[in-house]
Amino acid sequence: MQTCKRCIYNSSIPKITFNTAGICNYCDQYDSMNLQYPIDDRGKKIINDYVEQIKKDGKGKPYDVVIGVSGGCDSSYMLHLAKNVYGLRVLAAHFDNTYNSKIAVENIKVVLDKLNIDLFTYVVDNKEFEKIQKSLLLASVPEFEAATDLALATTHYMACEKYGVKHIWEGHSFRTEGVSPPGWFYMDAKYIKSIHKKFGDGVIKSTPLLWLGKWIKWMVVNKIKKFRPLYYLDYNKEDVKKFLVSEYGWQWYGGHHMENRTAYFINNYYLPVKFGIDLRWCEYSALVRSGRLSREEALGKIKEPKPYEPDLLVEIKSRLKLSDTDWDNIMKEPNKHYTDYPTYKKTFERLRPFFFILLKSGYVTRSFYEKFCVLREKRA
Ligand SMILES: [Zn+2]
Repeated sequence: MQTCKRCIYNSSIPKITFNTAGICNYCDQYDSMNLQYPIDDRGKKIINDYVEQIKKDGKGKPYDVVIGVSGGCDSSYMLHLAKNVYGLRVLAAHFDNTYNSKIAVENIKVVLDKLNIDLFTYVVDNKEFEKIQKSLLLASVPEFEAATDLALATTHYMACEKYGVKHIWEGHSFRTEGVSPPGWFYMDAKYIKSIHKKFGDGVIKSTPLLWLGKWIKWMVVNKIKKFRPLYYLDYNKEDVKKFLVSEYGWQWYGGHHMENRTAYFINNYYLPVKFGIDLRWCEYSALVRSGRLSREEALGKIKEPKPYEPDLLVEIKSRLKLSDTDWDNIMKEPNKHYTDYPTYKKTFERLRPFFFILLKSGYVTRSFYEKFCVLREKRA
């Protein structure tokens, strides 16, 4: 087992390679992104120019930009930035997968109230959504959260379409959160549909899943673009948390993605126990590369056990109608990979030149383009 001399990634990370100095390819990827997304005056200018464009595009519309909210640190801070720092008219959008933590609900409320920002919300048909989640577990793939993540993304487009808004801001930061290595996760609407057809009743009526035709329409016809402002900012999450607490009465919920109870359960129990995937590798390595955490501290922190609430497993079993035996079988079932099921992946690869244009014009993110259009994977 080789460990990178700069970050804490080791040979267990998919597609990792090491150079002669013992530094991994993901550290190189970080360095090139760091150059591509500067946080100095050039970064400031990129954001300011973008904000001006957003204001122009928003003329005659009730809002300039749609921002997805989860009650988490990144999205709460983006609301503050967009409205109070850049003077944008913000519409917040939220997809409720019905597993919000109490803190998340309160966080969304206090920040929106204080900033006086409207909320577009989509509540899913519980019964249907729970059946899809059950199918994803029975399929033995790591992407349990794929239905929620796709529905979130789709809700942002729906909010844009409803009010003629052309811009979505995403709260991702590669310097604090990292970029998950290719091969850990995949998602698209066809993937969910094929799994739900095989393991469930196949009915998907109310769950918004970013169907390909609809998505392309939102980009090409409605001209809805995506932007990640935190890529151009010296984003210090610890300072931001303190700021949100003092300024908005926001509350910290104990860990990245833990504001939602299924995200908490999947990241802290299901992924590490069944698939050996611990997202802290990604997060801590990113923090080490960006100088926010020392490598020694990260190596110590990664050994700490992940917090886990047994009540969550009880709740998930009961809501998804899984007996103890069903659950044991899910955990014992050999792990599957997205390449075991029909997906849009081949279509994305065929449409690579088209998505390259969409990337260059700001409609899709570089990480989407690289993982979905460029990367070719054989059966894992
Ligand atoms: Zn590294």
